[in-house]
Amino acid sequence: MARHHLVTGGAGFVGSHVVAALLAQGDRVSVFDDLSTGHRAAVLPGAELVVADLADAAALEAVFASARFDTVFHFAALSLVGDSMRQPLPYLRNNIGNGLALIDAAVRHGVQRFVLSSTAALFGRPSGGPIAENEVVDPGSPYGESKAALERALAWAGRIHGLRSAILRYFNAAGADPAGRLGEDHRPETHLIPLVIDAALGRRDAIAVFGTDYDTPDGTCIRDYIHVTDLATAHLLALDRLSHGSVTYNLGNGAGHSVRDVIRAVARIGGRTVPHRLDARRPGDPARLVAASGLIRAETGWQPRYADLDAIVAHAWAWREAHPLGYRGDMPPSV
Ligand code: UDP
Repeated sequence: MARHHLVTGGAGFVGSHVVAALLAQGDRVSVFDDLSTGHRAAVLPGAELVVADLADAAALEAVFASARFDTVFHFAALSLVGDSMRQPLPYLRNNIGNGLALIDAAVRHGVQRFVLSSTAALFGRPSGGPIAENEVVDPGSPYGESKAALERALAWAGRIHGLRSAILRYFNAAGADPAGRLGEDHRPETHLIPLVIDAALGRRDAIAVFGTDYDTPDGTCIRDYIHVTDLATAHLLALDRLSHGSVTYNLGNGAGHSVRDVIRAVARIGGRTVPHRLDARRPGDPARLVAASGLIRAETGWQPRYADLDAIVAHAWAWREAHPLGYRGDMPPSV
């Protein structure tokens, strides 16, 4: 019988690509999403969509009563480092409170496996060099703190209730579905690659480079951009690995690219200049976040298919160019 998964936040950027990968391997998927940042059109045909808020206890109980889920994938969360530095308490309350309610419901309803979308923002003051799983967790933002709390909660749920968890700490998710069905559409958009593409396409004013005085070769922040389809593949492999017990993996390509590198890559791929201006640092940003992803490679055989920054940018560019209104342009006018 096909496995059936509950995917919170399955209408969002990473969640929708994981749903696509689950459907492609013949699994059943129920998406639970309040569409506050996700999009109805990002839920591919074949998945069921329950539009509800995780804070709605009755709606959560109803969905767990409606089916016996093999796995819960948890993506739904407020997810912006900078925003969390301005409004810490909503981040902590929403992400920790809703995540705990979900873990509790999963345990009570006998779900055996849980996959958590976690983050490199756990590492607020990395010691330098690629970041492995044993790096000290010391979040530099309330967003990172909220994910650290859920990681700890899962450790206890595993120890006491036997819930197996895969914790996947993404570095910078980027790119878009190579088949062109799905892409990145945040409102407002705050992520570097889509913003730089929009600036190149003349859809926005110059991009602001946040900080040029970091201790990096060109003075701008270095991040490890990972293609969202490679992230999705990692979720499937980590899920299978749960037959051996719980896992925690850092997920990136292991290559660092500065903000200026990203601007150059977009200019190269798009064949346009990117208007940009130099600006102050954004609070909460560490200078350099690059993953050591040897563990997931060794334990699951994961291999990124689109490790090259140009490939990541090319897919992001293709989706963004084809969808000037994002997913809004994909919906019939009545929706
Ligand atoms: N960044 C920037 N200008 C922008 C948006 C982002 O210079 O308009 C920088 C940001 O400071 C960080 C990097 O680009 O160093 C990636 O930021 P993003 O928000 O995409 O992801 P994050 O690293 O916060 O998860």
